Amino acid sequence: SAKEAGKGRWQCFDHQLEQRVQRWRELDGAMRAGLADGEMELHYQPLVRLEDGQVVGCEALLRWMRPGHGPVSPAEMIPIAESTGFIITIGRWALRQACAEALTWPPPLRVAVNISSIHFRLAGFFREVEQALAETGLAPGRLEIEITESIFLASTPHVLENLSALRALGVRIVLDDFGTGYSSLSYLTQFPVDKIKIDRAFVRELSSRPECLSVVKAIMIIARDLGIDVTVEGVETEQQAELLRARRCDSVQGFLYSPARPAQEVGGLIERIPEAIRLARQPLRAAG
Ligand code: C2E
Ligand code: MG
Ligand code: MG
Ligand code: MG
Repeated sequence: SAKEAGKGRWQCFDHQLEQRVQRWRELDGAMRAGLADGEMELHYQPLVRLEDGQVVGCEALLRWMRPGHGPVSPAEMIPIAESTGFIITIGRWALRQACAEALTWPPPLRVAVNISSIHFRLAGFFREVEQALAETGLAPGRLEIEITESIFLASTPHVLENLSALRALGVRIVLDDFGTGYSSLSYLTQFPVDKIKIDRAFVRELSSRPECLSVVKAIMIIARDLGIDVTVEGVETEQQAELLRARRCDSVQGFLYSPARPAQEVGGLIERIPEAIRLARQPLRAAG
């Protein structure tokens, strides 16, 4: 009967929910132990300046190779850590780790660290950054903090205080995943940021959907007017890179150049990428 079938669906739903809760609990515990046991690492994805192909910085991305299980993706891990507040512990660790590792890179190469809105909203967050810089000796100008627009949805006075204090220190603030979620250009007039990162959702269809190119162009024009730098993320093809270069986008990031790699490989990337770009551009010049 329909009633029986309905009951069956509920049981099935219950079962799935139970499995998800179990997986969630299991990961929550394992992730706390994993960070404490040194299983987590930051890998670094280069940011490439389109003008000359130089690597100008790297974004630190969390990587957890869970023993006996394989890699756990940030997409699964971070929402759990955000719901429990453990993301704050991860953020503190990542800040220190990224500053310490970036210290060995040739200046003025920068390092970008992703910080959850939950963490950035805390009163005195800027002091944690100050402390990480002081303890590691990294120059403030070499650190970028990436936050997302979600922070402005429920902005507190602490958000503005942290933003202003960090910028006063010389730390750069980046608005990540720009154009997704609740983007409002008015944020850019209310909250001071140094750079925006246009989400890769726009890049995917850059050449196939003119609207995407229009939006990217418009954002870049406004950003330039406001004196804000622009990075475009998720660049995977030469064609996308050329389109962006023609629009005078400051820098790009994507699998075309490199995915995030372990810290010890950053030195090699800095040398290899500009050379690869130079070679890729040569035939274009010769032909045209
Ligand atoms: P995000 O900050 O926007 O980072 C960019 C994501 O896009 C990374 O995924 C990166 O590997 C991926 N990506 C870069 N280039 C390409 C490309 O050309 N094609 C494609 N398909 N993907 C590309 P990842 O490492 O899985 O991180 C996902 C998200 O998790 C990040 O998005 C960020 O929001 C969050 N996350 C990662 N590490 C941390 C962290 O240490 N702390 C916090 N709070 N969040 C983090
Ligand atoms: Mg980011
Ligand atoms: Mg992003
Ligand atoms: Mg993203």
